[in-house]
Amino acid sequence: MELIILGSAAAIPIKERNLSSVALRYKNQILLFDCGEDFQRKFAEAGLKFNKPMKIFISHFHGDHIIGLPGFLFRLSLNDRTAPMMIFGPRNLFLYLYVHRKILGLKAKYPIKIIEIDHYNQELIEFEGLDSEIPKKTIKMRNDTIYEAKYFSIRYALVEHSVITFAYAFIEKPRYGKFNPERARNLGIPESNLWKNLQEGQIIEFNGKMIDPVKEGIIGPKKSGRKITYSGDLKPSDSLVNLGKDSDILIHEATFSNALADLAAEKKHSTSIDAANEAKKMNAKQLILTHISSRYQDNALILLEEAKEIFPNTIIAKDLLRITLK
Ligand SMILES: [Zn+2]
Ligand SMILES: [Zn+2]
Repeated sequence: MELIILGSAAAIPIKERNLSSVALRYKNQILLFDCGEDFQRKFAEAGLKFNKPMKIFISHFHGDHIIGLPGFLFRLSLNDRTAPMMIFGPRNLFLYLYVHRKILGLKAKYPIKIIEIDHYNQELIEFEGLDSEIPKKTIKMRNDTIYEAKYFSIRYALVEHSVITFAYAFIEKPRYGKFNPERARNLGIPESNLWKNLQEGQIIEFNGKMIDPVKEGIIGPKKSGRKITYSGDLKPSDSLVNLGKDSDILIHEATFSNALADLAAEKKHSTSIDAANEAKKMNAKQLILTHISSRYQDNALILLEEAKEIFPNTIIAKDLLRITLK
């Protein structure tokens, strides 16, 4: 599992920083959070593969977070992509892509689903393909989980910004510890489907005896999964603190330094100190500051120093920064 910063600038890209985008490599797929303009170049530079199953999560409709999405989809159509794609975001996400379909001829021959999160009606509105503006289905949300897979789920929260904005959390499900094949062999269990069941923590019946893989030391006990929270743009929001509780990593915007706290509040953005306070409140293990204003081109370290006073385990994002999560 690897986290890669593809863009770390706010609003105006500079030579060293592209606009917002974060990739998470997990098993055989890629999860992307926001698609700042031209992020596809960083995507390629990071060595990410274009024909992988992907899920994209758009935080909000400000240009610096979404303008890169159509360009990326155009590239995928040139690439003969076959792997499935899901794109999540606020209402009107489908319309945004439909305009590119109608006017610029954007195509997607691979399976693509666009899922709009209707926060106020607590519904997920799902479109299939780019051709029909009629939703395929509408799903009532039971809680804040917008996607659920075998190994992880994605939750969202509405946060405070100048337009509807969502933060997202990647939450890995608890995992069993390492599989010990020797132990299985010693118990006489042949290498078969039974091994698969044991690896998944199932109690099996073998030679008339019930075998609990954890008790027998065939696999290690369950460990809690990893959690990564991505803030989007926001001013400090309790909903983010709830969503991100106990995150291994919080990726939080820090558009301004504390000296510009008034401007940050007025624009509904955060300072580095706000980000650090949020990380502390949610008991995160590590904070990554991102969405750095171009005014800090030569002195971004000031943001880092301010945040570290409050939350020592802070780093500042730079493009193509890679973090492996054990
Ligand atoms: Zn922004
Ligand atoms: Zn914004």
